Amino acid sequence: MPPWICATCGNHYPAADAPPAVCLICTDERQWVPPGGQRWTTLAELAANGHRADVREVEPGLLGIGTEPPFAIGQRSLLVRTADGNLLWDPSGFVDDAAISAAREAGGARFVTASHPHFYGAIAEWGRALGAEVLLPAADAGWLTAAAGGLQVRTWSDALSVLPGVTLIQCGGHFPGSAVVHWGPGAGGRGVLLSGDTIFVTPGEDRVTFVWSAPNRLPLPEAAVTGVAAAVRSYEFDRIYGGWWTPVLRSGAKQAVERSASRYIAHLRGEAQGASP
Ligand SMILES: [Zn+2]
Ligand SMILES: [Zn+2]
Repeated sequence: MPPWICATCGNHYPAADAPPAVCLICTDERQWVPPGGQRWTTLAELAANGHRADVREVEPGLLGIGTEPPFAIGQRSLLVRTADGNLLWDPSGFVDDAAISAAREAGGARFVTASHPHFYGAIAEWGRALGAEVLLPAADAGWLTAAAGGLQVRTWSDALSVLPGVTLIQCGGHFPGSAVVHWGPGAGGRGVLLSGDTIFVTPGEDRVTFVWSAPNRLPLPEAAVTGVAAAVRSYEFDRIYGGWWTPVLRSGAKQAVERSASRYIAHLRGEAQGASP
């Protein structure tokens, strides 16, 4: 029996005769249930409906593994490659043999993790297929809905040096354990953040934002925005890849995070010039 997959968020649930009544992730205030009610699917049904792995080199040392057409929230995975092994980040809810083969050809993965529970997706399938250790922030580990049998799971908090030049940073905000990856060698050595929904790159690719809920348009309080900016302040980075192929904040990212956080807080306080009636 295959795992049940929530068609809205892409998270996996244990194999069973019948799926759960509701998806815990989607009934949370940060997500949503379709007006017609909860829908479930399976990997076989998704493949039959034409979903396929979409593999792209994002930049040297960074392989993207997404799904075409996109599925559920639509995040694409990123495989950070190092001489000491790889880290797979933000796995899509869809996975097939071509996706696994692409990761294997790029050296496999020693670790698999995600920015936050919306993007746990097929994390358990990846962990088992590649023999990768699943890293979950302690604050959010209870959100793992997939069956954990046969998986090696480790929790972490604050910051975790995963591989040479690759660090997980807990930022909080969107979820208490919302994280980013700092990849020092990325962007030609200027440094990269992989941010998922933790730091949200906006369509103009020149600034970022911070959200409690993206689909329900709910903001974060000032203390949370301050906390996210503070968590990454001591790291050097020039580029941010969010949760999707685009948008990408290609350069000037460190300054953009500081500027965007200040601007966001000014809006919260009603002090932003140009925002008054
Ligand atoms: Zn869901
Ligand atoms: Zn999210």
